[in-house]
Amino acid sequence: MALPLMALSQNRKLTIQDSARYSVSMIYESVVDMIYLYEDFLEVSVLGYSEFGQAIPILKITDTSSKAKMPILLVGNLHAREFFSSKFVLKFCNEFLFSLANSNGVYPSANKILETYDLYLIPLANPDGLKIAQEDWSGIEIYKKEVDSIKRIGPYSDWKANGIGIDLNNNFDDGNFEVKHGHLFEETPASQGHKGDYPCQANEVRILQDFVDSIVPLLTLSFHTKGDVLFWADKGTHAQFEGLDTKLNTRIANKCGFKMAKVSRNPREYGAGLENYIRAKTRRIGVCVELSPPNDLVAQHPSHMFKTLVWDKCRDMPILYLEELSRLYPSYRYLFLKD
Ligand SMILES: [Zn+2]
Repeated sequence: MALPLMALSQNRKLTIQDSARYSVSMIYESVVDMIYLYEDFLEVSVLGYSEFGQAIPILKITDTSSKAKMPILLVGNLHAREFFSSKFVLKFCNEFLFSLANSNGVYPSANKILETYDLYLIPLANPDGLKIAQEDWSGIEIYKKEVDSIKRIGPYSDWKANGIGIDLNNNFDDGNFEVKHGHLFEETPASQGHKGDYPCQANEVRILQDFVDSIVPLLTLSFHTKGDVLFWADKGTHAQFEGLDTKLNTRIANKCGFKMAKVSRNPREYGAGLENYIRAKTRRIGVCVELSPPNDLVAQHPSHMFKTLVWDKCRDMPILYLEELSRLYPSYRYLFLKD
């Protein structure tokens, strides 16, 4: 009797554990496992390297058809301590890939989504920061002294910046860098609140910005943690979407039980984030998604609460965005043909 090897391999599944705290090496291992399991749909490459030489992987999910697709970008972990964000992107990626080849996956519309979109996922945008926030010095031991000399606000577990003390979501070249001055402002490198000396100073930002320029994603979802809120529009760019951003984000906020932040008014506060760069420079839709409810603490929710606070509530969020975007896009297509 022939062994049903094909069937076995098709039904094998990687599990992204809900309760574990994912380290950088666990994320790398999961990505490698996905390459072997889902080679028909997944292309993985290294987008570039962090300040301390850690790889920043990019995962592209695409089908084999030669039809032109619209690029979509999902990013996690720009902020070091926000562990839920990298795990969310990783788990979504794994479940989506499984659903492409298996009828019992959580995303029955996965194959249909790929008829229209190519998905690009960056689960680990700030590997040095993640390592520091987890006090995981393996591979970056030689930088520990340097890291120790950076102004630290709170324990290592509160570290938000990259390895050289720049807040990556304050370092993009959106045109507001000079005026940017958040409420957690630090003049010099720090564990949070330092925007850098000039835009794109951080390797991680330069790499991400170059990539955005090369694919020009129609929609970018940048995942952070805490708030159950969408930061979806700013005064500088809101009008250019002619209501598309309002309709799209209102629908997703309602479906997922998220609040919608007010349209950000002051570039001094909102500027220089990835979502701001997307809206201002590529004129496409960029949303900062704050996963999990606020708890009035700097400390993150414990790892074991990922399932109840994030996954159960948001697992369909990227799909909902894409389905709603497909519904709205024909009426707004002209916006994106102007340039
Ligand atoms: Zn954040």
